[in-house]
Amino acid sequence: MVTRVWDYMPEYEQEREDIHDAVETVFRSGQLVLGNSVRGFEEEYSAYHGVKHTIGVDNGTNAIVLGLRALGVGPGDEVITVSNTAAPTVIAIDQIGATPVFVDVHEDDYLMDVGQVEAKITSKTKALLPVHLYGQCVDMAPLQEIADRHGIPVLEDCAQAHAARHHGKIAGTMGKAAAFSFYPTKVLGAYGDGGATITSDDETAANLRRLRYYGMETTYFVVSTPGHNARLDELHAEILRRKLTRLDEYAQGRRDVAQRYQEGLGDTDLVLPKVNPGNEHVYYVYVVRHPKRDAIIEALKAYDIHLNISYPWPVHRQTGFHKLGYEEGSLPVTEKLAKEIFSLPMYPSLPIGTQEKVIAAVRDVLATV
Ligand SMILES: *Cc1c(COP(=O)(O)O)cnc(C)c1O
Repeated sequence: MVTRVWDYMPEYEQEREDIHDAVETVFRSGQLVLGNSVRGFEEEYSAYHGVKHTIGVDNGTNAIVLGLRALGVGPGDEVITVSNTAAPTVIAIDQIGATPVFVDVHEDDYLMDVGQVEAKITSKTKALLPVHLYGQCVDMAPLQEIADRHGIPVLEDCAQAHAARHHGKIAGTMGKAAAFSFYPTKVLGAYGDGGATITSDDETAANLRRLRYYGMETTYFVVSTPGHNARLDELHAEILRRKLTRLDEYAQGRRDVAQRYQEGLGDTDLVLPKVNPGNEHVYYVYVVRHPKRDAIIEALKAYDIHLNISYPWPVHRQTGFHKLGYEEGSLPVTEKLAKEIFSLPMYPSLPIGTQEKVIAAVRDVLATV
């Protein structure tokens, strides 16, 4: 059987009754859009994070789009972020007519090099968008200090970091607002697309609610800024409510898988993830690094193991973003990492036997490349 980096089937088999019950609950509720399940999920997601507001939306990209717009970012403004991320982080900035401004990342933890941010701030900078990449939080205290000094809001991209903690705080509770994706592969995943933006700021929350619903507060009347149709579906909201009760278990399951990789591969020349002091990593993906990455991936196919690279091309070097003017070599660490990183299978229901097979195969291959 082929082993891949992610598979939802083992989890579905375990949770089948609950998922079917969620579907039945929604189908029998008489309300398929913005009903009890979305309201319930929003309350429970806020309570989990200890924030005042959750606004459920249709995907993580729109969670960022609406988050930025709700914070007042618009055409011609600049948003400082990283190129070492999933493209949607940057696509969201582009979509609202703002300009992404990139800083490089650290070579050891792959996260935003906060020390480079202040030099990039201009009069047009309207938001800072750190990405808690792979499930580990960016060094938030110095970033927030810069943000406060310049009066610029921070929107956290938490699409990969549900339940991650940073010096005791839950990811998404440190900036002015935070965007989450519930794409099926994520640490908290729906059975299709979903997302949410959370905040404790009442005005930002009111903006988000309007923006999600065409710009309306009540039906048929656009109040100020025309918005989007970006609603979270009842079906996904109800499934997410069920799964939210298991979120801490999912995170722990991922840490258990990471622990077994550490034990099985810690003595090889593969560079394993570095967890910074004060961080609780949730390992959305388990990213390792080796100069012979391509040969390793190729050789593992003979063992029926098909791995992924998150991500093979830095956003600034994708042709759709050449318009931003970042030449090759402009973000040297990001570019170097993209050539050497790859991901091992990671999900909480990953069978131990499968993981042992992966560890043995990787050890075999490392001895020959
Ligand atoms: C998945 C992801 C997104 C986008 O979420 P979608 O639900 O796929 O739109 C944004 N940022 C990061 C870092 C992601 O991993």
